[in-house]
Formats: sequence, structure tokens, C-alpha cells
Amino acid sequence: KLIVPDYPTIGYIRGDGVGEDIFPQAKRVFDAAVLKIFGEKKKIDWQKLLAGGEAFASRGEYLPDETLEQIKENLIAIKGPLMTPVGESFRSINVTLRQKLDLYACVRPVEYFTGIKSPVRAPEKVNMTIFRENTEDIYAGIEFSSSSKESKKLINFLERELSVHSIRFPETSAIGIKPVSPDGSKRLVSAAFDYAIKMNKKRVTFVHKGNIMKFTEGGFRKWGYEVAKNYPTFTKLEYDKIKEEKGTEQSEKEKNIALKSGKIYVDDAIADNFLQQIILNPDNFEVVATLNLNGDYISDALAAQVGGIGIAPGANINYESGHAIFEATHGTAPDIAGKNIANPSSLILSGVMMFEYLGWQEVAELIKIALSASFHSGALTADLGGKLSTSEFTDTLVQYIKNY
Ligand code: ATP
Ligand code: MG
Repeated sequence: KLIVPDYPTIGYIRGDGVGEDIFPQAKRVFDAAVLKIFGEKKKIDWQKLLAGGEAFASRGEYLPDETLEQIKENLIAIKGPLMTPVGESFRSINVTLRQKLDLYACVRPVEYFTGIKSPVRAPEKVNMTIFRENTEDIYAGIEFSSSSKESKKLINFLERELSVHSIRFPETSAIGIKPVSPDGSKRLVSAAFDYAIKMNKKRVTFVHKGNIMKFTEGGFRKWGYEVAKNYPTFTKLEYDKIKEEKGTEQSEKEKNIALKSGKIYVDDAIADNFLQQIILNPDNFEVVATLNLNGDYISDALAAQVGGIGIAPGANINYESGHAIFEATHGTAPDIAGKNIANPSSLILSGVMMFEYLGWQEVAELIKIALSASFHSGALTADLGGKLSTSEFTDTLVQYIKNY
């Protein structure tokens, strides 16, 4: 749907800490790949945008309005990690950007590259894309501290109006409340299905904790299955119904027929069990749709299996407005900043996602092939057990792309 000009203006935020090390290097890879595929026919018109420490140093604010305005206008931006100013009541810049642009889908593909050391036995079986709801859940929730006026009032209200037993709500409790809405859940799940169809994926799984939180997490599951009805799917609910009425043999048969005809299999998993399953049988899952907090845990757990946060990319997208910010998922890594040793792969793979989003598929593929080949040949940065610096690793990639 997105109409992309031949010279799209794309804003970039270099980022703080290792952002200074990895951004200029990642940009070399992006430009080399675009040049290789398109010559001078298409090209990114890079626009530097200020945010984080760099913005504070020159403007006295962490997120200047014009940065936000430019992203709104361009639709697309890519960024390195940003530091969160300590103290005050300042929300993280990352969170502010997501909220202001209503980037409700946090998309995290997790994929293994041969040559990278993994703590699990069969990392090549990991190939999943996580759709994490980005605007609700406890991230939009409210908390009141232990023994605060608000907590006490709420406990009192619960006792008086809803007959909630005070034994489980001692007066000294801190209280937390989280919102999960049908609309918020459904737009995220729809995005996951649209993606599954576009990428030819065969399975979508809703991950939740609905056994404990019936209406928030359980609601997500329920609304997820409602959305599934709008897509060519065969769901676990249908499977179970057939099984109950006609037996396992028949349900298996109908499932196979449905899948052969190209339908997507849809099921759900309780979050704790899911975290076990992704270690035992990761190849059972393809697209995962989940709420904000579960998505946080799952992304890190999965990233660890394929090489860690140094190579885990991410995107924050609003599919209706088209706004998207592609970003390295790791932090500013102050311990290694400025040393030219950080791994630029997370940011580079975020660029791959960006090119896919632009519809510049060949550019995305070329960069991925270059990364694959480099890892395979043992070209690795220190975090992955290798000896290459950030710029040496990038040299390998750029050379590979030029010679392709
Ligand atoms: P922030 O406060 O910005 O979140 P942090 O101290 O939490 O920063 P992270 O960036 O989340 O640090 O990193 C955690 C660990 O992973 C650190 O030891 C860091 O050096 C390492 N790390 C993070 N990013 C990279 C990278 N791109 N390459 C290599 N190591 C990295
Ligand atoms: Mg951190």
C-alpha cells in the first residue's frame, strides 16, 4: 500500500553510546546494497534527526519536536539505541516515540545464522516472528505504592463494592492495574495475520496468561480467535470441536485438508509453557502474537538462542498510518561504547526489515546474504566470540556486497 519514491527521505537517529560506533557502519552497508541493486536509479535520501544525548547537547532537549515532525512527514525512520535520562519523571525516549506515533506493533523476527554459537542444541530450528503489542498492558498501566493513599482507597473500594477478600489485599499492598482492550488486541493480531499471509507462514500462535488473568490475557486470546475468522485459517478451537464430536482421527483429517489448501493453523499457548516449548520444539512456531510484557520476555529469551541482543532486530509499526521506526533492540551498551567493538548486526538487520517494508526486497535479501556468508566464514565481532572490530566486520560485508 505504501507508495515509495525512488529517492525516499528516511530520517535516522544515530543513537547514544554504541550508536556512535554502529550507525555510521550500518549506513555504509545500506548504501552499498542499494547501489549494488539499483545503481543510481534508486537511493536513500538520508536525513539526520536529533534525539537522545546528541539532541540534549545541542538543543537542551532529548526529543526535539522537529524530530517527531520529520518522522511524521517521512513515515519511516531508523535509529540506534537511545539513553534514558535518569531521574525526573522522564519516560524513555523510545517509549515516547512509540506513543506519539501510536506504533502499536513491535515486530521482532528471530532467525538463526550458521556460524554463530548458540547455547541450545538445534538453533537452526528457530525461525519466528514475534508481534508484540506495544501500547497497552502494564506499560500503559498504573501502579500505586505500598500503603499509599491511592492503594488504600482502592483496597477499600474493592472490599466495599466488590467484596474482594482483604486477606489477599492487605492494607499495605502496592496495587497495579493494567489495561488490555479489544481494539488494541485486534489490530495487533490482524497485523500478525497480514504478515503471516505476506510471508507465506503456516502458523500463528497467541501467547497469553489467560489461565490466571481471564479478562485481560484471556481477552487477548478470545479476541485473537475472533480476528482469525477474518482470515483463511483453521483454528485449534475448530480442531477441538471436531475432535469432541467425531474423534481425533476426523479432526486430524480436517486439519490436514485445511492446511493443504493453504490455510493458516492458529493456536494459543500459555506463556510459561510457551517459554518451555521454544527451547524444546522451536520449529513448532512461526508467527507469535502476544501482549506487551509477554512479548518483552519472549523476545529476549528467543534472541539469546540465536546469538543475543547484538543481532536481534526490531521494528515499531503502525500499519494504518504507515509510520514505522526500525531499531537496534539492544541498549546503549556504555561498557563497550566508543571502542569500535560493538556488533552492528542488530541495526543492520533492522535495516533489512526497513527495506522489506519499503518493498526493496532485493536490497533486503542481498544484505541478509552478505551477513549469512560473513557469519558462516567466521567473520564475527567479539560478542559472538570473534576478533573483528565493528568497522572490520562491516568492511567484510561491504566487500561481499560489492563483489556479489
Ligand atoms: P541501556 O541502559 O541503554 O539499556 P545497558 O547497560 O542496559 O544499556 P545493553 O545495551 O542493554 O546495556 O547491553 C547489555 C549487554 O549487552 C552489555 O554488556 C553490552 O555490552 C552488550 N551489548 C549490547 N549491545 C551490543 C552490541 N551491539 N554488540 C555487542 N555487545 C552488545
Ligand atoms: Mg538495558
